[in-house]
Amino acid sequence: MKENYKEIKKWLDERKVKLVAVSKTHPVESIEMLLKMGQNVFGENKVQELLMKNSQLPYTIEWHLIGHLQSNKVKFIAPFISLIQSVDSMKLLKEINAQASKCNRVQSVLFQISIADEETKFGMEEDVCFSILESKELALMKNIRIEGLMGMATNTENHKKVRTEFKGLKKFFDSLKKKFSSESIRLETLSMGMSSDYKIAVEEGSNLVRLGSVIFGERNYEYNMII
Ligand SMILES: *Cc1c(COP(=O)(O)O)cnc(C)c1O
Repeated sequence: MKENYKEIKKWLDERKVKLVAVSKTHPVESIEMLLKMGQNVFGENKVQELLMKNSQLPYTIEWHLIGHLQSNKVKFIAPFISLIQSVDSMKLLKEINAQASKCNRVQSVLFQISIADEETKFGMEEDVCFSILESKELALMKNIRIEGLMGMATNTENHKKVRTEFKGLKKFFDSLKKKFSSESIRLETLSMGMSSDYKIAVEEGSNLVRLGSVIFGERNYEYNMII
């Protein structure tokens, strides 16, 4: 794990790309090992698992939520979450704003855009994203900062297809950047790339990658039954 991390971190640093270490299904001991090596940004996709780990680890960790978030669970993470990468509806955005307001925080979020052709992947369509950014409702939300976009490519060996999907998201990101900039919209982060496709994602303009298995090894799918 240590060697993988060092090598990947060096490759990303050379390209000025930020790393989220995706620790889902891995124990707090593995996170502690990476913390000692200087990694401070971790991603989880389930609220319950995130809460459990947050309670056992230093409060200085920067946690990102990268999985689908139900509105009724926002309140549990609102006090501490650094970045919610998976905002996929106006309803969820409103709830995040309300809970962030209660905590006196401005919550940073990314909009997850649907770019893959699998129905199981969450995310909003480009036109929905565009209309939220334009909306008066967003302009009234004082506790939200939209920092960019996140996307997951189709899970396929077809690199050309993956590349096309990332290229499309980068193009959309650039077009939004030209059009939107305000107190609550600062589009700087383009989160694309996981273990299987991060090099392609970086070539296509990603500046934040979410890596799990290439760092921690295979996921332990029984983990959530144990905790
Ligand atoms: C699990 C997950 C990752 C990391 O996946 P790996 O293939 O292990 O790198 C990245 N992004 C999201 C949204 C995930 O759920």
